[in-house]
Amino acid sequence: MGAAPLLEVKDLVKHFPIYKGWLMQKQIGSVKAVDGISFAINRGETLGLVGESGCGKSTTGRLILRLIEATSGEVWFEGQNILNLGREEMRELRRDMQIIFQDPYASLNPRMTVGDIIGEPLRIHGIARGAEKEKRVRELLEVVGLASYHARRYPHEFSGGQRQRIGVARALAVNPKIIICDEPVSALDVSIQAQVVNLLQDLQKEYGLTFLFIAHDLSVVKHISDRVAVMYLGKIVELTDKNSLYDNPLHPYTKALLSAIPIPDPTLERERTLLEGDVPSPINPPSGCRFHTRCPVAEEICKHQEPVFEDVGGGHYVACHLVQRK
Ligand code: SF4
Repeated sequence: MGAAPLLEVKDLVKHFPIYKGWLMQKQIGSVKAVDGISFAINRGETLGLVGESGCGKSTTGRLILRLIEATSGEVWFEGQNILNLGREEMRELRRDMQIIFQDPYASLNPRMTVGDIIGEPLRIHGIARGAEKEKRVRELLEVVGLASYHARRYPHEFSGGQRQRIGVARALAVNPKIIICDEPVSALDVSIQAQVVNLLQDLQKEYGLTFLFIAHDLSVVKHISDRVAVMYLGKIVELTDKNSLYDNPLHPYTKALLSAIPIPDPTLERERTLLEGDVPSPINPPSGCRFHTRCPVAEEICKHQEPVFEDVGGGHYVACHLVQRK
């Protein structure tokens, strides 16, 4: 039997209530942002979590860190269900679980120096103060490819890629075990994206980090992920190791996402699957398989019966009636 995963998410649900009325006291529905997802991440592994905007992937990251509270489900981290922890226990645990946000412009306080931004978690968790803290900040700046004198500067003096490096240094400051990378390169120029992804990969090797890497594009997570989970309207529809996903995608939604990625070699052609229509509203998701309104191979059963998310062989999980029938 293999080692226990570092993080395990079981049947996680987040429904945001929608209220109406003069005092907003009447609940008239809910946004089913995350609707019963399960996955595990092993130590030292990178799990890519991919889907179109609004599919629930960023909400998933925030639920794991309890930046927002789950409606139901479990999040196991090193043997405890962290959704049951009290405020103080959770505060201590945050040392082990850090996040890098999508927008390096919005996530760094413009009135704080870079040294104070990176040193803040050291102060909050009582890890280092004074000269020791400053030394650690200088080290962290160098680890992420910046210079120690940058500590005295302010975020606006840096480019987007450099600001994301500052965000990485801040996340690394407390020696976390897992980092939720929430679309960390989506706001950056394509030329800079690879540099930040490479930096994260190098740091993972050096510090034995575990990543949940959230992205809206399968091409971004390809190099960094060991396994990839694909989300659609609050559900995971396919999860497998990187090679199986890119070479042998099984779910029609994954196939459509992959077919949209341009191939750099002009002599090769890929069969394109164009998805029709918009992503349906998570307030009232389609019955049966949520993808049936856009699926090019949907059958009658897909409208009425929700497919089970199950292992179809070798740890390749899929939720699709057609795949499971084969
Ligand atoms: Fe398409 Fe049906 Fe499979 Fe859903 S269950 S992905 S609608 S074939």
